[in-house]
Amino acid sequence: MKLILGSGLIGLLARKILGPTWTIIPYGRSRFFSFTPALDDNFVIRDNRIDDFMATLGATPQHLYRVSCSVGGALLPPTAEIVDPWVTRVHGEDHPGHLVPLYSKRNVFSVYNIRLNELYSRLQKEFSEEIKAGIALGNLGDVNQESVTVGGKKYDNEGIISTIPLDALLKSIGYNAEGLNSKDCHIYHIATTDLDFEGANQIWSTEGYTFYKCNQIAPDRFVFYCDEDMTIPGAYFMQFMRRFDILDGTRIPNGIIQGSPPDLKFLKENHNIKCIGSYAEWDPAMDVATCLMRILTL
Ligand SMILES: Cc1cc2nc3c(=O)[nH]c(=O)nc-3n(C[C@H](O)[C@H](O)[C@H](O)COP(=O)(O)OP(=O)(O)OC[C@H]3O[C@@H](n4cnc5c(N)ncnc54)[C@H](O)[C@@H]3O)c2cc1C
Repeated sequence: MKLILGSGLIGLLARKILGPTWTIIPYGRSRFFSFTPALDDNFVIRDNRIDDFMATLGATPQHLYRVSCSVGGALLPPTAEIVDPWVTRVHGEDHPGHLVPLYSKRNVFSVYNIRLNELYSRLQKEFSEEIKAGIALGNLGDVNQESVTVGGKKYDNEGIISTIPLDALLKSIGYNAEGLNSKDCHIYHIATTDLDFEGANQIWSTEGYTFYKCNQIAPDRFVFYCDEDMTIPGAYFMQFMRRFDILDGTRIPNGIIQGSPPDLKFLKENHNIKCIGSYAEWDPAMDVATCLMRILTL
């Protein structure tokens, strides 16, 4: 039996690419793309290695997306000097070394004309029978290199792709996940005409505010990402806007990864499990495009 653990976006994309010989073991819906507006940035970064696959979803590279950093009241392109303290603040002192070089190149980039929450909704419909069948199979039990137990029944282990958060996977197969740290992410959807992003789609706040990132998702709609809880968010947002409505707010527990990805060779060697995904690998740099490249080259 070949298994995909998880029925979030990456799990369903893996099923779409790898085909019906792979069985989904669902663990619930995507924490990010099950909502409108999405709780993520909602884009796939263009890369010519995934153009053909994206075309099968009806997506072509069309839009330019711009990220700016707010520094001393000015909106500047990300540079290593600006991004380094931002990454340290968001992902901790021991953040992965590849984040700063990666993010400091990302000022204006091409994205596909597809929204990830809409794609997720389509994939949930397309694989609704497979998700139901996976739930009926039952929970994952013992996993070793040769065999895997699902719902109390033993099968040959022909390969497992895990897309569920690494701490959940490790605990479920009997390992300690104490080294994997994270912070809760607090997200606010706000309507205002008082903000001017000067053409940017996303702002990174480098100035020690509670919000570290903000996306403009429509002319008068913004999604703020905060790494601390706020007792009175209205009072906080008054610092930036005179008139605004907080339309919605939510918390994603453990949504902000801290530290660097651990070495996961032992999962492949002892359990025939390959982890794919930002949370599955505990690596904030794993965006959807990079996950797709990993799945397409399996
Ligand atoms: C703020 C933010 C914005 C991002 N924006 C983008 C973007 O726009 N584009 C992009 O390419 N990448 C983005 N990423 C990176 C990352 O690629 C996505 O967050 C990721 O792909 C989400 O995929 P998912 O829905 O499969 O993950 P998850 O929501 O983690 O779901 C995977 C599976 O694990 C299950 N699961 C969740 N929690 C548990 C648990 N505790 N125990 C067991 N199972 C669990 C889910 O129900 C699901 O079945 C962003 C990350 C963050 C934090």
